Amino acid sequence: MAQNIQTVWELASATLPTGQGSAQIHVFDSKPQGEGEIAVLSRRGAGAGDIPLVRLHSVCLTGDVLGSLKCDCGGQLQASLGQIMTADYGILVYVLNHEGRGIGLANKIRAYSLQALGANTVEANIALCMPVDARDYRPCAAVLRYLGVSQVRLLTNNPDKLKALEAAGIEVLERVAMEGFDNPFNQDYLDTKVHLMGHLRKLTMQTARSL
Ligand SMILES: [Zn+2]
Repeated sequence: MAQNIQTVWELASATLPTGQGSAQIHVFDSKPQGEGEIAVLSRRGAGAGDIPLVRLHSVCLTGDVLGSLKCDCGGQLQASLGQIMTADYGILVYVLNHEGRGIGLANKIRAYSLQALGANTVEANIALCMPVDARDYRPCAAVLRYLGVSQVRLLTNNPDKLKALEAAGIEVLERVAMEGFDNPFNQDYLDTKVHLMGHLRKLTMQTARSL
């Protein structure tokens, strides 16, 4: 059985000016000679408490960079960045090896071509002999621990992220729902995430334990 506790290495850190204010960017990897698997943007105001608003965001080239409407990643990233940069204490954990829910960019685009023929996101991954979700959140928990964080408010609709953080010893005091990223192109994708992958869509604030 895999261990829940992992080690990460901070490879670099610098101040980063952004359109929404100045923040600290950190680069982490699970190997000391790695090139960076996780980028973290953290911003802490003067007098802020110890419980940050946190988003664990899986890289999505098509959604985050290219503005694809096939998923809700780009909207979720921009909305969570806005909330993190205006919170007293906010942390974005951007996971660079989670493309395509961990199957990689080429496989994700292969899955898109199958989806164009009628498969949903789960069926397409299965047809490619790929896991439906290959993401490991334990390095994210390790990053939070490294930053001295043991309790979070988490921006997510994905119960797997809540469970993974709790299993790794990070207490999720509150789930902050992400809503409002529907469009005509991602409706089937969002419905599949709710019905086949257990995602939560109701606009609610609730504790992880009530899920
Ligand atoms: Zn996406």
